[in-house]
This record gives sequence, C-alpha cells and structure tokens, in this order.
Amino acid sequence: MIKRHTNALTYKDIEANQIIFCEGCNVTNNPWFNHLPWAFTKGEMIKIENEHIEANKLIYGDRFLLPVDKHKAWIGATYSITDLTSTPTAEAKSELEQAAIGLVNGPFNTIETRAALRPSLRDRHPVLGFSDQTMQIGIFNGLGSKGVLTGPFRASEMANLIENHLVQPEKMVNISRFNKK
Ligand SMILES: Cc1cc2nc3c(=O)[nH]c(=O)nc-3n(C[C@H](O)[C@H](O)[C@H](O)COP(=O)(O)OP(=O)(O)OC[C@H]3O[C@@H](n4cnc5c(N)ncnc54)[C@H](O)[C@@H]3O)c2cc1C
Repeated sequence: MIKRHTNALTYKDIEANQIIFCEGCNVTNNPWFNHLPWAFTKGEMIKIENEHIEANKLIYGDRFLLPVDKHKAWIGATYSITDLTSTPTAEAKSELEQAAIGLVNGPFNTIETRAALRPSLRDRHPVLGFSDQTMQIGIFNGLGSKGVLTGPFRASEMANLIENHLVQPEKMVNISRFNKK
C-alpha cells in the first residue's frame, strides 16, 4: 500500500517524491483515476507463418504485418467497442486471415491468436498530469489505439511536466480537461 507523507511517498521499501501511474487498463483498480471517462476498446491479432515473410519488412496501413521471426508475423488489428473481453474470437480470426491474404504471398498458417484491451478514454485522447488533490500522484495513460506511435512524444511531454510544472502538456491530453468547471 502506498503511504503519503508531507514531502514523500513510500511503497514497501521505496521512497519517492512522486508516483506516476502508467498501468494501462488496470487503471480501473486505481482509486485516484478510475473516475475518468474510460472507454476501452478491444483489439485482436493473429500470428501467421508463411515462407515469404521477411524478418525486416514491416507493413503498416489499415492493417499491419509485424514480422517477429523468420517466416512469422503478427497481423492486426481488429477494433471492437462492444465485446470488452480479452478472449480471441473466431470472427476476428477470420477477418484478420482475410486481411493476411492481401499482405503476404501464397498460403499461410495461423499459429496463434491474441486479444487485449486498449486503454482509451471516451474522447480518444491520452491523459497526462497530476491528481487535482495532490502533485504527488500523477497519471500517464489513455494511449489508446496509437500508443506505440505517440507514446514517445507524450512521454517527453510528461517528463517536462514532472521536471517543470509550468510546462503543461497539450490541452487535448491534459488531465485538466476533466476538472469540474
Ligand atoms: C491488438 C492491439 C493492437 C495495437 N496496435 C497498435 C498499433 O499498430 N500502433 C500503435 O501505435 N498502437 C497500437 N496498439 C495500442 C498500444 O498497444 C497501446 O496504446 C499501448 O500499449 C499503451 O501503452 P501503456 O504503456 O499505456 O499501457 P500497457 O501497454 O497496457 O502497459 C501497462 C503496463 O502496466 C503494467 N501494470 C498494470 N498494473 C500494474 C501494477 N499494479 N503494478 C505493476 N505493473 C502494472 C501492465 O502489466 C502493463 O505491462 C494496439 C493495441 C492492441 C491491444
């Protein structure tokens, strides 16, 4: 359990000035930030095997092909706002196998399926900043469907905020957008 002191926080044997929660969808268990308007989306991927897949050739468009090994790649991803389980479905597998036909040459085998939730907010923008109750407790989350792409830039905004509280992140991603007017 995290304990708050006047100028520090402690967790087990760790003492820190601040804590920044970057916990993805696990935010629903976080009493400081679970009140934000979270609206997760489900995504599924399949891993395929095909003799023409090249280890260093990534394809990124409507669908992506991400080589993970010689002759193996992830194909993704689907998008659902209704089914919010983390269970792979036959429908998504079939949708992605159709997409794979256009991404690889020749026949392929599907060797794995995976599903996960993307941590998104209702307005589909990330959330960066500190609790309105204390500057000791911050959040970096809500990266949604483009988190890999935008994460580094948003992380630099968060680092600036931590180091210099006057340098605020862009309004669109700032937690202040959820403060009561
Ligand atoms: C199927 C799918 C396809 C995607 N495709 C793309 C894409 O093509 N391009 C793109 O840019 N983005 C894509 N994304 C989105 C991207 O993966 C997410 O935006 C990104 O992973 C969010 O990063 P994050 O670090 O905020 O959260 P996460 O990646 O969820 O990481 C949170 C981490 O915190 C850990 N954690 C949680 N609670 C605790 C705790 N109490 N203690 C310790 N650790 C904890 C978790 O184990 C996890 O490792 C995709 C997502 C999915 C599901």
